[in-house]
Amino acid sequence: CVIVSSRLSPGPALLFVKTSQGKEEGRRFYACSACRDRKDCNFFQWEDEKVSETRLAAREEYNRNHQPSFTHRQNVDRYKNFVLLPLSKRRFCQECQQLLLPAEWEKHSDHQFLCDISTAQLKSPSQLLYPLENKKTNAQYLFAGRSCQFLLNLLIDLGFRRVLSVGTPRLHEMIQSKASQEDLSVRSLLLDIDFRYSQFYTEDEFCHYNMFNHHFFGGEAARETCKKFLHEENDERVIMVTDPPFGGLVEALASSFKKLMAMWKETEKEDDAHKMPMFWIFPYFFESRILDFFPSFSMMDYQVDYDNHALYKHGKTGRRQSPVRIFTNLAPSMIVLPEEEGHRFCSVCQRYVSSGNQHCEICNSCTSKDGRRWKHCVLCKKCVKPSWFHCNNCNCCTLQKHSCEKTDVGCFVCGKAGHKRSACPRLSRTRTRKGDLLRHDPADGSVFPFQDN
Ligand code: SAH
Ligand code: ZN
Ligand code: ZN
Ligand code: ZN
Ligand code: ZN
Repeated sequence: CVIVSSRLSPGPALLFVKTSQGKEEGRRFYACSACRDRKDCNFFQWEDEKVSETRLAAREEYNRNHQPSFTHRQNVDRYKNFVLLPLSKRRFCQECQQLLLPAEWEKHSDHQFLCDISTAQLKSPSQLLYPLENKKTNAQYLFAGRSCQFLLNLLIDLGFRRVLSVGTPRLHEMIQSKASQEDLSVRSLLLDIDFRYSQFYTEDEFCHYNMFNHHFFGGEAARETCKKFLHEENDERVIMVTDPPFGGLVEALASSFKKLMAMWKETEKEDDAHKMPMFWIFPYFFESRILDFFPSFSMMDYQVDYDNHALYKHGKTGRRQSPVRIFTNLAPSMIVLPEEEGHRFCSVCQRYVSSGNQHCEICNSCTSKDGRRWKHCVLCKKCVKPSWFHCNNCNCCTLQKHSCEKTDVGCFVCGKAGHKRSACPRLSRTRTRKGDLLRHDPADGSVFPFQDN
């Protein structure tokens, strides 16, 4: 992997723990934080392992060969030349995912390319580039027009004029084109690991960034760009919007986001209690994980949907409902959700909720998480999914089809009493590490369709 440079920089490898059944202490190892799938990146090293000089040299050689062909600076210059070309000479190599200058055509002659690249195409790179597909960490799911437009309008209505777009290239590009068309000035800075975007944006518009370990590949200069952007001048308020890959580790993400928040704070804020406003877009079943790290966040009912994911589309018409939501530290009552889509304001909860979300008098809140109407169980003393029923054996609500597990036997995984296998902290940790949560709603074990199409 290009981003793990072994000797030169403090590479963005993260420390993981491998545990085997029954053993309390696992052996620790480093792996690349951006591509944890061993198929995509072979960087792996035990924490206590001594790495030979030969292996270090081989790794550096590999990294050199896999470096992007141009630096960001070079790409900016190339872009300037590219836009001066007549339409007939504007080509984009699909294989190399690169804008080509006429002198380079020869080298790419047996590659597939697109011709007549228009200014409109240059302004929507997310349409031109193919979405990356690494299943676990780098899958790119692009906002559907409906969701992107909604987010942008919401930000504007809330009075924000600067958006730190962390892993949201499509929102970034919508803001860029909006800013150039209308007198309304909204600015965006994109932070993303996908270096292909450096071909389309200047150093003031894009920073190559790893959100799993808060690493700016452009070093101090890039960090400074980001900090400057976060400095609110002329009453231009900043919000951060992020849509991380769902296989991402919540704790790694949260730690990076806290560092971005701290960066915002450093820019002379008088009010100490003030926090950088943020939208974190993530599936609803990560709610408790996110709240672990950001207790002041709340989850909005709005279903975010995507273009290139057939199963992640907005409900109605029998299509599948999207499980992806907006988490925010802004007051929920300020987040106005579209009434055309059935949202209404619950005056008790002081927030907009989806049409199916009924206010439960006993819980005293609108309890549905997935958009369906939930029902209250008096025995569990909470609302549960409509498909659940109360099992007296298990003493909780669960799916009709389940095998009863007795807690007193002790947990199958760790052997400790007091919880069942499904609630074993070790199991859920391992699962998160492997990214398997993508496939299971841990609340009910139901299969979740974010996987091989
Ligand atoms: N819905 C968004 C895209 C979300 S897909 C939109 O339409 O704008 C996740 C994004 O996060 C992708 O752009 C991907 O390149 C980026 N990403 C993935 N891993 C990352 C990492 N480790 N650091 C920074 N960005 C990352
Ligand atoms: Zn309510
Ligand atoms: Zn209830
Ligand atoms: Zn129950
Ligand atoms: Zn049971």
